[in-house]
Amino acid sequence: MKHHFETEAIRTQTERSQYLEHSTPLYLTSSYVFEDAEDMRASFADQKVRNIYSRYSNPNTSEFIDKICKMEGAENGYAFASGMSAVFSTLAALLNAGDHILSCRSVFGSTQTMFKNILPKWNISTSYFKIDEIESIERLIQPNTKIIYAESPTNPAVDILDLEALGSIAKKHNLILIIDNCFATPYLQQPIQFGADLVIHSATKLIDGQGRVLGGITVGNAKLIKQVYLFSRNTGPALSPFNAWVLSKSLETLAVRLDRHCDNALKVAVFLESHNKVNLVKYPFLKSHPQHQLAKKQMKAGGSVVAFEVKGGIDAGRQFLNSIKLLSLSANLGDTRTIVTHPASTTHAKLTEEERLQTGITGGLVRISVGLEHPEDIINDLKQALAF
Ligand SMILES: *Cc1c(COP(=O)(O)O)cnc(C)c1O
Repeated sequence: MKHHFETEAIRTQTERSQYLEHSTPLYLTSSYVFEDAEDMRASFADQKVRNIYSRYSNPNTSEFIDKICKMEGAENGYAFASGMSAVFSTLAALLNAGDHILSCRSVFGSTQTMFKNILPKWNISTSYFKIDEIESIERLIQPNTKIIYAESPTNPAVDILDLEALGSIAKKHNLILIIDNCFATPYLQQPIQFGADLVIHSATKLIDGQGRVLGGITVGNAKLIKQVYLFSRNTGPALSPFNAWVLSKSLETLAVRLDRHCDNALKVAVFLESHNKVNLVKYPFLKSHPQHQLAKKQMKAGGSVVAFEVKGGIDAGRQFLNSIKLLSLSANLGDTRTIVTHPASTTHAKLTEEERLQTGITGGLVRISVGLEHPEDIINDLKQALAF
């Protein structure tokens, strides 16, 4: 990075057009024109770097990719229609039939479904390691293992994985380390520094930050991204130029938004920790978090998500949700609006109780994606909802 994070987020821009606009305009075009037959031939032969068709590249998506690459310290990237298309296309581009993935136990719900029900169609299998058993990963490596896949902080239990330890295991065994960095964003954590080969984001969350558009991105090692690009340009999961334009503008304010999200989340976590109806609060920058030191080593601040357990199990969790007045009951996270969810009865209801407990989801676990409302109003709503 030439300048500081905030400056790159604002000053990385697509080249100005002849109109000398200050803010990058929307390039709603599906294709581009060529000077002559030779220009067209050379472009299709990959002898020129230029836009051909917006499934391959577009000025708005390129700007978005350039920004995330600078923020993550990555060589190159490709932008997708959603976080899940980023996860699927990245894995599909890199894996062959019969390959094996090692994944942390707690990954995003749809990613888990992909590992369990979709990738096995191509005989791709997945084994899981627990967050506190990083040392045991080496025992799980098989001759056909190709990828180590992890999220940190995890969803919804907000556990932290040791990225540096994962990086050195991946390097030692020549495996590709992929980190879903959605919860932290590149402002709080840059996994490539710790040895990740590829970083995936659901841009739908904190990168958009205002609950408007879906988007996803994979950035990292240029050779691997080339494979992801060639797979994707022919299979069609590309991000729309409009969404890329929205997301690129959002990145201009990522740092200031995240500072406030993290301040608010810490205040909410401290409040919950002092409440007598709350059993346990998980927030990476609370001293009581089991991996607080590790969180401080690899993250700049604790993020926007707080998990806590309401005393009284699954019924108390539901009752708490029913008493919420201001905050939203919604499936999203990383919005300006604070969102409260009860994983055991919703997003993770299809798992068996044993599977749920393995991912740290108890009956009373509530996940709060702390937004940008005034912290006193957020806390007052939680306070009245806990008074059931
Ligand atoms: C939301 C999310 C995804 C999926 O992203 P979409 O944009 O909803 O497809 C993947 N990983 C994590 C950690 C997420 O929170």
